Amino acid sequence: MREYLRDIIELFYPRICCGCGTPLLNGEDIICLNCHIKLPRTEFEFQPENPVEKLFWGRLPIQHASSFLYFRKNGLSQRLIHQLKYKGHFEIGYHLGYLFGQEIKSSFLKLNIDFIAAVPLHPSKIKQRGYNQSDEIAKGFSSATEIPFFPNLIRRTESTETQTKKKRYHRWENIENKFELNPGIDIQNKHILLIDDVITTGATLEACGKSILEIKKAQLSIASLCFAIN
Ligand SMILES: [Zn+2]
Repeated sequence: MREYLRDIIELFYPRICCGCGTPLLNGEDIICLNCHIKLPRTEFEFQPENPVEKLFWGRLPIQHASSFLYFRKNGLSQRLIHQLKYKGHFEIGYHLGYLFGQEIKSSFLKLNIDFIAAVPLHPSKIKQRGYNQSDEIAKGFSSATEIPFFPNLIRRTESTETQTKKKRYHRWENIENKFELNPGIDIQNKHILLIDDVITTGATLEACGKSILEIKKAQLSIASLCFAIN
């Protein structure tokens, strides 16, 4: 009976793939099988000194870094991120975070990460959007890898302006030292995996990661859902 009802409902309100807009079939969730196959995976896990790690050379002493998908202008991952950030589809974050966790689990488990933190949004943006997309990605990743996630480990201390059109050094000045750690969580001697949605210049992760590395013997690794390329 429930299946019958669902079929009737979907006849009028079909569930749509967030990647290509075609109706989802039974058994498909968030994205269709075709989009799932076409996700532009980076396979950075199989590359020593992968491009994300290289991006942070000389900037941030990290243990390991990786990204799940390439982010290209007008590409599939850009469409998914757009839906995730601006169209209220927070469930995309969990879904892709889970897939990411599942697919790189074996290499991340070797790193002995103690827990996961997400790059925070400014409170005014949370208010506007209703959620932090990086938290959603982190929840999915955590559930696939069983590495615990602490949602409020880091917070932003001041508003940052829209950064997209600024030059790199301006952008960096804009956000430097604008993060602080939740004093209620002890991360001394801990290995933290910091999760973000998209890496472009790496400036946000750099500033955020520095706040973690100020803590005695804390170690840092980085994972982003997407890695921007031209
Ligand atoms: Zn699709």
